[in-house]
Amino acid sequence: MAEHNDKNEADVVLYEVRGAVALVTMNRPEYHNAQNSQMTYALDAAFRRACADDEVKVIVLRGAGKHFSAGHDIGTPGRDIDQSFDRASLWYDHVNKPGGEFLYAREQEVYLGMCRRWREMPKPTIAMVQGACIAGGLMLAWVCDLIVASEDSYFADPVVRMGIPGVEYFAHVHELNSRIAKEFLFLGERMPAARAYQMGMLNRVVARDELEQQTLDIAGRIAQMPRLGLQLSKQAVNNAEDLMGKRATMDMVFGLHHFAHAHNELVSGDRLGGYDAKAMASSQRTSGGA
Ligand code: ZN
Repeated sequence: MAEHNDKNEADVVLYEVRGAVALVTMNRPEYHNAQNSQMTYALDAAFRRACADDEVKVIVLRGAGKHFSAGHDIGTPGRDIDQSFDRASLWYDHVNKPGGEFLYAREQEVYLGMCRRWREMPKPTIAMVQGACIAGGLMLAWVCDLIVASEDSYFADPVVRMGIPGVEYFAHVHELNSRIAKEFLFLGERMPAARAYQMGMLNRVVARDELEQQTLDIAGRIAQMPRLGLQLSKQAVNNAEDLMGKRATMDMVFGLHHFAHAHNELVSGDRLGGYDAKAMASSQRTSGGA
């Protein structure tokens, strides 16, 4: 069994293998694991490594510190949307592209493209969620096959406040029924773990101090199943979701999403409608539906 704990560039993502389980940890706790491109590419590299390692049967994605993820980086000192990276898809570099092309090319690569790629990893994945799981954080939890969450966790997609119809990976109507999805989007409020569990978004809700153990316990039990059987089962469910319109819905909404970014830029000169992380955080409240 491989036992190692590697730290890579600036430690934005940690990679560790425990027995048959790879633990991939977002590691920007000082920014509540806000995802900049550096982190996104480091996650992609960690997932590739886990998929390629025959010793790894299950992959757990988690966040260091108090929160799973506050979402995409829209304001930390490490925000890097103007930087070029070696891309994972065949999309051309977004940097220095004019108008709407800049974000369209970038988000095809780092958001829609990478999330779909991660959803299709040929090994079972479990998101281990504590604290905040907001907007871009939802995308990371939703691409995983299972979600185990702590009682203190909460979920929100508040980007309608920016005039944008949800985050780039539009799985809302597959994660929630349509009426609850509309409430989730229209109000942008925090949905506590208990309600997200009732809605079928989560597999387990456990005490905060039991989160890691319970997640690893489930991962360990899955790891006893045959690799190919797990992969084929995952493919079966994912393909069924796509036949129910998940992929086509995402393509359609990605167009609406980019119409909203472009509209914002035309009207206000800002693709996010003038909201930064602080303004978004101060507008958050918890839904009364728990
Ligand atoms: Zn966007």
